[in-house]
Amino acid sequence: MMANLLDGKVMSQEIEEGLKVRVAALKEQGVEVGLTVILVGDDPASQTYVGNKEKACQRLGIASRTLRMPADTTQEALEAAIMEANADPSVHGILVQLPLPRHLDEAHALALILPEKDVDGFHDVNTGRLCRGQDCVVACTPKGALYMLKQAGIPLEGKEAVVVGRSNIVGKPMALLLLQENATVTVCHSRTKDLAEHTRRADILVAAIGKPRFITADMVKEGAAVVDVGINRVDGKLCGDVDFEPVSQKASYITPVPGGVGKMTIAMLMDNTVAAAEKAVLA
Ligand code: NDP
Repeated sequence: MMANLLDGKVMSQEIEEGLKVRVAALKEQGVEVGLTVILVGDDPASQTYVGNKEKACQRLGIASRTLRMPADTTQEALEAAIMEANADPSVHGILVQLPLPRHLDEAHALALILPEKDVDGFHDVNTGRLCRGQDCVVACTPKGALYMLKQAGIPLEGKEAVVVGRSNIVGKPMALLLLQENATVTVCHSRTKDLAEHTRRADILVAAIGKPRFITADMVKEGAAVVDVGINRVDGKLCGDVDFEPVSQKASYITPVPGGVGKMTIAMLMDNTVAAAEKAVLA
């Protein structure tokens, strides 16, 4: 039987409808939600992502400002731009588009963003608070992936969840979120032995690897919920880390690529930005 589709397009539109109401409520209080994106260099994928973020801001009535800085920007210039946005009360969210050119110190730059304006949820304070299960800004991609599972009513408590990938921006925070939902979580990576043995146990399988169609049907348990975070380009076409057609014959739920987690990432960025503005009003 074909799996139910976890449709990021539909779910992100629903989230945007709710956000429009919240943005309008802030406007009534005289607050225009502001997001500053800092883009260094001319990486084509980053240009596309930033363009999508700008369009989402336009749809929602969020004032977006993109600082486009040249590829040879110095660390000092990048940090000065971050500090300026930190000090600007009309800016509620700051995002430094990753990856940065190699000569720049990414960790140092991200650590300068005020944690309350860190709408990507990458600041050490936010990741530390997530680790402790405290209120924090949660990274957009894992937040969006979890939203999809919960919105579909997929039970998580006591379930076997396997996350393939342990990056700081997807795999690790995803595992922590599933742990908070009382799933029993296994994190796999490139040194994991017998990967398929782990993935075949998963009631919830999250693939965040960056390898096209890496998760094949024989690695998936019958009836599993499969979340495909991967975005890969093969022969000019986008595909995920999951071999979609065969796996969707076996899974009970699956996210498509495109139209899955990617859409949710942007929606969650908007949600984090609006929430940052709401908190700033209350502060
Ligand atoms: P990283 O490259 O930072 O991490 C990849 C992870 O996969 C690593 O932990 C790595 O293990 C693991 N891995 C690599 N090869 C294997 C293997 N053969 N077996 C098991 N594990 C393996 O990638 P990201 O986490 O940043 O991104 C993952 C994917 O998600 C990419 O396709 C990216 O484009 C996509 N992405 C999508 C987003 C969205 O909005 N949908 C947002 C962000 C990312 P190790 O740690 O041992 O190297």
